[in-house]
Amino acid sequence: MNVVVVGGGLAAASAVAELREQGHSGDIVVVAEEPHPPYERPPLSKGLLLGSTEPDAALVHPRAWYDEQQVEVRAGTVATGLDLDRRRVLLGSEALPYDRLLLATGATPRHLPLGDASGAPVLHLRTLDDALALRERLTEGARVAIIGAGWIGLEVASAARQRGAEVTVLEAAALPLQRVLGDELATVFADLHREQGVDLRLGVRVAGIDHADGRVVVHVDGSEPVVADLLLVAVGVAPTDRLAAQAGLAVDDGILVDARLRTPDPHVLAAGDVANHDHPGLGIRVRVEHWDTAIHHGRHAARVMLGGDEPYTRLPYFFTDQYDLGMEYVGHVDARGYDGLVVRGDLSARRASVLWLRGDRVLAGMHLNDWDAIDPLRAVVGGPVTDAVRDPSVPLADLA
Ligand SMILES: Cc1cc2nc3c(=O)[nH]c(=O)nc-3n(C[C@H](O)[C@H](O)[C@H](O)COP(=O)(O)OP(=O)(O)OC[C@H]3O[C@@H](n4cnc5c(N)ncnc54)[C@H](O)[C@@H]3O)c2cc1C
Repeated sequence: MNVVVVGGGLAAASAVAELREQGHSGDIVVVAEEPHPPYERPPLSKGLLLGSTEPDAALVHPRAWYDEQQVEVRAGTVATGLDLDRRRVLLGSEALPYDRLLLATGATPRHLPLGDASGAPVLHLRTLDDALALRERLTEGARVAIIGAGWIGLEVASAARQRGAEVTVLEAAALPLQRVLGDELATVFADLHREQGVDLRLGVRVAGIDHADGRVVVHVDGSEPVVADLLLVAVGVAPTDRLAAQAGLAVDDGILVDARLRTPDPHVLAAGDVANHDHPGLGIRVRVEHWDTAIHHGRHAARVMLGGDEPYTRLPYFFTDQYDLGMEYVGHVDARGYDGLVVRGDLSARRASVLWLRGDRVLAGMHLNDWDAIDPLRAVVGGPVTDAVRDPSVPLADLA
């Protein structure tokens, strides 16, 4: 059996490692658009911008690993089409045959249709090359504007402040991360950034972007424009699912796969940011844009290709580092929201653990700067809401 993986990110690199670890000895080819071997993206908005991490430290496997494991990485190569009937990946005029195909094409930053800013320093952050270009511009005294107070926008704001830049963040919602965390926890992040000197403007609508004298001018409804040396647009990503859609695979906010990450085509699976899958534990479809999911999806898809039949049940997990705040989050609060929040510890001191509840179920948990909390959180999330869960005087460790 020969396997082709289209992607070249973390999901792809995790899948090929699992294939070899499980003893698969057939050919493996990774078709990867970027010119680098697979690397991890979290450092791109953290250590790499701060200068504490160099690019090679982000590689998923050392460069020599691919030869040692006889995994062919076709870096700098775009898959242009899929011929599902003849089981071929098209690379321009070349056709690459497969017995099993994993689509791990990830996600692409959303752009704002905001007028002609061509020539202006407007950046997005997804790739290593994006991060290196951004790092060069994050200098002492530089004026940085960021549209979007999501994870990437806030992490870049943190790195930029630590490098001595003046930072303005423009966000349409009333609080940063409001949709993911709810008001109580979103306020913690708003306070943190304001204390660190970020000009955080909430509830604003960006009306357009243009440029003058090499600077970006961001027009904002109802107030003076923001003039900056650099603008980062960080308004989320869209799944890179066009290749699958063009081949006739079902796509709806990502490639639709079952709980085993399989498309209806028995030879084709999808993993990572691009996969929209049935999650038996959550009882809904999810598409998760997190590092941990890319690793475990990739490994899971590899086992399914080799005949495994387990559904993917791992709960979504996420982490962030901003200034001296580290946090980890496990679980999922869907569009129906939550009806209870239990805080253990002190949110204003930013050392706490938090549980989100709905009805009789613990939906999600998170800690702030309390690294021992993640295992007890994992033990509680997904389980029932008991009196002990609701009682913040009962230590988290006693709930597990
Ligand atoms: C700056 C940044 C910081 C992040 N920080 C965190 C964090 O702190 N915590 C966390 O949990 N998550 C974080 N994430 C999210 C995490 O990195 C992603 O969830 C993860 O990278 C997804 O991996 P993937 O392999 O599915 O997709 P990707 O990493 O997007 O890789 C997909 C690859 O496929 C390639 N590709 C696409 N189409 C084709 C084609 N037709 N032919 C060939 N190649 C193709 C793309 O060029 C890309 O290299 C961060 C993401 C970014 C961008």
